[in-house]
Amino acid sequence: MERRKQRVLVIGGGLGGMSAAAGLAAEGFAVELFEKNTRLGGKLNTKTVRGYRFDLGPSIFILPHYFRRPFERAGRRMEDYVRFVEVAPQWRGFFEDGLTIDLHRDLAAMEREAARIGADPAGYRSFVEYSRRLYAFAEEAYLERGADWFWEVLRGKTQREALAGIDWFRRMDRGVRRHVKHEPLARMLEFFVKYVGSSPYRAPALLNSLAWSQLAHGLWYVPGGMHGYADALARLLEELGVTVHRNAEVTAIDRAGRHVTGLRLADGRRVRGDLVVCNMEVVPAYRRLLGETGPLLRAHEYALAPAASGLVLDLGVDCRYPQLAHHNFFYSADPRRFLHQIHVEHRLPDDPTLYVVCATRSDDSIAPPGCDVIKVLPHIPCVQDPPFTAAEYEALKQRVYDKLERMGLRDLRRHVVVEDVLVPEDIQRMYFTHRGAIYGAVSDRTRNMAFKAPKRSLLYENLYFVGGTVNPGPGTPMVVLCGQKVADAILADGGR
Ligand SMILES: Cc1cc2nc3c(=O)[nH]c(=O)nc-3n(C[C@H](O)[C@H](O)[C@H](O)COP(=O)(O)OP(=O)(O)OC[C@H]3O[C@@H](n4cnc5c(N)ncnc54)[C@H](O)[C@@H]3O)c2cc1C
Repeated sequence: MERRKQRVLVIGGGLGGMSAAAGLAAEGFAVELFEKNTRLGGKLNTKTVRGYRFDLGPSIFILPHYFRRPFERAGRRMEDYVRFVEVAPQWRGFFEDGLTIDLHRDLAAMEREAARIGADPAGYRSFVEYSRRLYAFAEEAYLERGADWFWEVLRGKTQREALAGIDWFRRMDRGVRRHVKHEPLARMLEFFVKYVGSSPYRAPALLNSLAWSQLAHGLWYVPGGMHGYADALARLLEELGVTVHRNAEVTAIDRAGRHVTGLRLADGRRVRGDLVVCNMEVVPAYRRLLGETGPLLRAHEYALAPAASGLVLDLGVDCRYPQLAHHNFFYSADPRRFLHQIHVEHRLPDDPTLYVVCATRSDDSIAPPGCDVIKVLPHIPCVQDPPFTAAEYEALKQRVYDKLERMGLRDLRRHVVVEDVLVPEDIQRMYFTHRGAIYGAVSDRTRNMAFKAPKRSLLYENLYFVGGTVNPGPGTPMVVLCGQKVADAILADGGR
């Protein structure tokens, strides 16, 4: 019973922090959450300018059942708080030679699409089956188990089963091309790696499970804007009695030996607690809040190298571009070179693949009549030392406009009436992410085999981490699941 009265302090009100706070409050803990910004939701952020409502962060939700978990744990139905609607087609791919490919959830429709573009439908079907097997393995051995270490994934399996289950010996691009020989379709399928801001030429083949997670469970939008899900979680926290402090930056975690004892805030206040859950990313938290300089920080810095950042271009235009689906990709003519420039050379890319979101395709309420809201997001390297200059970012932005106009969005520059631009330095400042990464830590075969930091701190026995740099992050469904698994871990530890 004593555990039920323990006081948990949560640093950060992103989806990960809110999910953990809700889970712990539902289990009877007294929870206080400290968020440095005015709004909860972290990167799931929103901004309205002259009648155009922009989602500044995520625009795609997959695996909707994980979004329901915090509500279900509290005995509620998510549908009573927020509505998800399915988007079809899931993606539209545009290629420099004029080819377009739609990605459909329905297998028969997708086989017809494969035949239309000259790809082998049987090859596509075989890729989907491969992705299903990877996902089934990952779901059971990694996601649902809340695994933090490879030996936890191995539990109950032979080494052979585990190595086959995650296609251990391959990279993501090779896993795709074993099944799909049609180059544009293969490029589209390997770009599921977008969800973790990494490169298919460096990420483990296990990430080919992402295709199944979207094809089987659908791709979803929140009418009125994705931020509606953060609002729903904020309402849940209020109902569960979580005390939320907004504009409350945490500057340090107090310690005594291997125990954390409370928090210090930017306004000088000190707060005491029994447990701390940190939604600030692992590397900046150890460095800035705990003053770590030792081997653990260095090990985390290596294994949790930041994933890609982005040039986030939110546009309000005074017309409609009917050729756009809700989610589109304008592919680089040379994706290998593009990804090499970002992940190896750490340069701003010459010809990036552009992720282009036109949410007005599903929702008229977010723009003036007859107008589109368009987000353009090329991945780019995170904050560098020395940093890219304003002129370099501007030159990249002009290359992005050139590419979009060349590939069919005629006179785009002339139709833009609102332009909001975020660069990695903005993302770092807004959410305190490590070097402005937008998807937490990179997924890389040699660095981490896609594993992230464990939920339990390796240095402090009552400190836990949640979010995009923690297993099974990153991405919105994964950080929400992570929050629930942190609550499970705290319960399993007896609320230490
Ligand atoms: C442009 C963009 C597009 C994206 N697109 C998608 C997408 O389509 N689909 C998808 O699933 N994911 C997408 N992502 C990734 C997704 O947003 C993240 O994986 C996820 O939201 C991370 O949640 P989090 O809780 O880990 O961290 P965050 O959202 O970063 O939350 C951390 C919170 O902690 C607060 N904080 C940090 N330090 C302190 C401190 N010291 N004191 C107090 N508060 C603190 C921050 O202000 C922030 O609110 C995108 C991200 C961006 C930026």
